[in-house]
Amino acid sequence: MADPNERYPDNAAGPFFVDWRCLDCDVCRDTAPANFTRNDDGGYSYLKKQPENLDEYERCLEAMDACHTEAIGCNGGLPDWDVLPSVMAFRFAIEWGHSARFERLLPEVLLEAGRESLFKTGDLFRVAARTGLTDMVERLLLNADALAIPRSALTPSLDEAIERNDFEMVDLLFRYGVRPSGVTAGGPNSLELALLTGNPKMVERVLAAGGISKEEAVRRWFEEHADDPLPTPSKKTCGKCND
Ligand code: SF4
Repeated sequence: MADPNERYPDNAAGPFFVDWRCLDCDVCRDTAPANFTRNDDGGYSYLKKQPENLDEYERCLEAMDACHTEAIGCNGGLPDWDVLPSVMAFRFAIEWGHSARFERLLPEVLLEAGRESLFKTGDLFRVAARTGLTDMVERLLLNADALAIPRSALTPSLDEAIERNDFEMVDLLFRYGVRPSGVTAGGPNSLELALLTGNPKMVERVLAAGGISKEEAVRRWFEEHADDPLPTPSKKTCGKCND
């Protein structure tokens, strides 16, 4: 996820920016040529001009969603709210963690939700969960059906929150019925991520949400790893006689 603190200095001041993750692939320059250009010496893209009309905003958002290294961000400054339709402004309010505007726009967006899939690009719910703003995320969860937020978008957000050791967000997502990944099926999963945090509270919460006890989790782990080769002990040699 692009970080406004790591934006290249040649980006024009404003919401959109490119950071060091850019791999100079050309996609953004093709998608939004009025706004993105190349720094030939550095071999990366940057914003030569911030979007000034709806078409340019749409193209910049499209470029952001298409950037496979997540080098483009749009929370580096306030957008020009006046040129944005409510659905797009709603997206910016989420990207920005701008709770007051989010609340103001929500009723309007709910009215429009039937006509347009708000979450078809960029996985807005995931963006919202990354802000760590539980109030905003809860409002989205309460309106998930009306906003047509795909259920498949929720578990990756949960796993990201576990990885960040964000217990408050994890607890909220579980309370709204988000399922942990693979706790009962093996493979890389929510439980493994929880174990990596080293936070026992997180591990217990994930286990409880998966509906299994600690003993059962241990038993399954051994079952899943039964065929793994045992680690070969390294041969120790005597420091004096080399035997
Ligand atoms: S799409 Fe992303 S990686 Fe490609 S040039 Fe633009 S910012 Fe760089």
